[in-house]
Amino acid sequence: MHDVVIIGSGPAGWTAAIYTARAGLKPVVIASSVETGGELMKTTAVENFPGFPDGVQGPDLMTQMQQQAERFGTEVVYDDVTDVKLLGDTKVLTTSLGDTYEARSVIISTGSAYRRLDLPNEDRLSGHGVSWCATCDGFFFRDKVIAVVGGGDSALEEATFLTRFASKVYLIHRRDELRASKIMQQRALANEKIEPIWNSQVVAIEGEDELRSVELQNTVTGERSTLDIEGLFIAIGNDPRTDLFADQVDLTTEGTIAVEGRSSRTSVPGVFAAGDVLDATYRQAITAAGSGCVAAIDCEHYLADLDDQADEAGVPMASAETAAV
Ligand code: NAP
Repeated sequence: MHDVVIIGSGPAGWTAAIYTARAGLKPVVIASSVETGGELMKTTAVENFPGFPDGVQGPDLMTQMQQQAERFGTEVVYDDVTDVKLLGDTKVLTTSLGDTYEARSVIISTGSAYRRLDLPNEDRLSGHGVSWCATCDGFFFRDKVIAVVGGGDSALEEATFLTRFASKVYLIHRRDELRASKIMQQRALANEKIEPIWNSQVVAIEGEDELRSVELQNTVTGERSTLDIEGLFIAIGNDPRTDLFADQVDLTTEGTIAVEGRSSRTSVPGVFAAGDVLDATYRQAITAAGSGCVAAIDCEHYLADLDDQADEAGVPMASAETAAV
């Protein structure tokens, strides 16, 4: 029986691991079979994480967080959780390889997933002109005319990054005002390769084997037009990854995991949440890291209380030393 299993390996997961490891709880991080590190693995320079005055590459930051967690004894499992049983005193997690992990507590830090436009052809042309990751796919669009959809920090960051490759980058936004931070706006709008298309929604994605064009609808006049492009980067935000837990822990109306006040305590005793999975508002690497710290401290207090109760009742407690799994 493990003291704590942490699901997810973004800034929240690694910070929870650093804190719980230093508290002697020997955390296990189930970090994904495909790529550890979460969303920051898909970014380039992170300029707003304190402690790096010259910025730091997202993947480097995540690698360093993982190394810090491992230095204090975190066990990392490169697998995906496919099933959870959270409601009992012993939490049971099953992975895609069929392994089972039993734990006294669980920290959910599964982050969020890219939002889709939900249009026909979106999936079919994914990898054939349609993408959600500029840093992964930007290279393929050298000297091409492309578009980015969205008006937030992600869209502007991606549009700016893509000007390194593309000859032109349209920025398609459904309003005439951007949501992104001022500095991101200034940087993108000053770039002569970026041309905003305001008040416009992508309503169709066209192409046989490769993306050829998108159909736009003006959100004010309803007028339709065709935009010929070879690349479409969708950067319209993320949704919290809660599918595995939604039938066991309470969610908010925004779809994030509900927690008690400023704590990380979910509706299920012994289950804590951290990072983007509980945060519909701030969603920064630094807030996710802070949230991972909160979850670790809440988890530590919960386990200490359980141990105290067991001591008072004279019941031998389960611990990592008596691990059966
Ligand atoms: P976001 O802030 O939620 O912005 C999403 C954008 O997509 C909005 O402009 C929204 O339009 C638009 N949108 C949403 N659904 C749409 C749809 N179905 N069709 C067309 N447009 C749609 O998401 P984000 O840009 O991914 O940023 C998420 C968080 O990460 C934010 O807190 C952001 O500050 C942070 N972030 C920070 C950095 C950085 O600091 N370097 C970089 C990336 C992200 P409306 O504006 O009309 O709602």
